[in-house]
Amino acid sequence: MLHTASAVPCPPADRLDSVSALTDAVSDFAARRNWGQFHDPKSLLLALVGEVGEVAELMQWTREGAVAVELGSGDGAQRIRDELADVFLYLVRLADVLDVDLADAAWEKLARNETRFPPVNGV
Ligand SMILES: [Mg+2]
Repeated sequence: MLHTASAVPCPPADRLDSVSALTDAVSDFAARRNWGQFHDPKSLLLALVGEVGEVAELMQWTREGAVAVELGSGDGAQRIRDELADVFLYLVRLADVLDVDLADAAWEKLARNETRFPPVNGV
């Protein structure tokens, strides 16, 4: 469930999935804790990589065919959900600190990839 911590402002319903609304909420979260002093790009990148490592840890030593089963329900599903959220939150924060509009950048890159990697006929 979104925004169970009451101090986090809840964006309007039509913006719940907006990257910019999330960026603003993460920035506000950090500002209210005076964490901006720690959020230089390198530190955020290292935190992001650490969170990617936590995702990897959930799959480490698990047989390839069992990953979807172990992370598909129950405690495993909650853990992968939490770690992917950590990755996303640090990515959003890093992009914000670097003044990158993450949604725009991603849409632009996807459009370039569409040209770079032509679709396979019949798929
Ligand atoms: Mg984590």
